[in-house]
Amino acid sequence: TQIPAPRGYAIQLRVNMEAIDARGNVKPQGGTLAVFEPPSGPGVDIVVQGAVDSELQPLLAALEGRDQVQIAAWPFWRGRIGSKSVGVSRTEVGPINAAAATTLAIVHFRPALILNQGTAGATGPDLKVFDIVVGEATVDYGAFRSAHRDAGAGVDLSGWAPMPHRLRLDGKERIPFSAFPGDGAALRVATETPYKRGRVVKGVIGSAFELNRELDRLTWVRKTYGAVTEDMESAFSAGVAAGFRVPFLAIRVISDSEFHSPEMQPIAGEYCASFVVDVIKRIEPARGRSTRAGRGDRGVNRKYGNMAP
Ligand code: SAH
Repeated sequence: TQIPAPRGYAIQLRVNMEAIDARGNVKPQGGTLAVFEPPSGPGVDIVVQGAVDSELQPLLAALEGRDQVQIAAWPFWRGRIGSKSVGVSRTEVGPINAAAATTLAIVHFRPALILNQGTAGATGPDLKVFDIVVGEATVDYGAFRSAHRDAGAGVDLSGWAPMPHRLRLDGKERIPFSAFPGDGAALRVATETPYKRGRVVKGVIGSAFELNRELDRLTWVRKTYGAVTEDMESAFSAGVAAGFRVPFLAIRVISDSEFHSPEMQPIAGEYCASFVVDVIKRIEPARGRSTRAGRGDRGVNRKYGNMAP
């Protein structure tokens, strides 16, 4: 019989389960393979996210030598901005999209930092359209537990108490997060980056899959959760980043305010993305960082982590 010409390759891989003692004797061992990470090359310095095209245009224009990859419903672009390797992600709108796109970005691009940016509404009269808020924390203002009320007793916001998200960061203990902290170093760079269209302020950035236009509800969101803005993605990206212990910062521009100017201004998204291009150029390159997710305890924060429900 004739051996046919080879077509393609067969590769066999083995996990070595032997332990070698001090004398050089080999002993067989058993165990459970809990994590398998194939080598994936170096990660990017920054993944930057926007929900819709109008929030990404200036970032894509600044991205040199870019390649596009589509993973299921989510497109990603990889290239360079200044000295940084950057992944740009169109997350699409809302928490499901934000969580999925963030997970994919972390697994496929191994970023040292995630920037979530785009438009937001204001929850109070102080912020004006085109002002930028840099997130010292992000909070899910759709997360609450209510008190019991009888049928016909109506809805009472005063009985709604914020409910924390819980993450088993070490696989064991569930850590409650009443909000997710923003990365301190990136936050400092962002607050020092020049911007001509409005102010740049620090604050708590809020997210929920809600579009609130009632002033009393907005005021309640601000009072109850501390959120000065409302969007539909930041806090959910932040929660996933915290779960992987990847440093994270949200940067949001006010595109609409029920207090002054309820009409959504799409140009605000471009202003924000242009600002974020400048922030990316000013961020210190990550030196000697690991390309693996899991960098110490930066996902936990004294102010916003570990708070009882
Ligand atoms: N034009 C888009 C929808 C944009 S509105 C479409 O047709 O799909 C929602 C987007 O803008 C979300 O990505 C959200 O993060 C942001 N946003 C801006 N202002 C908002 C507000 N007042 N409340 C909630 N999200 C807001």
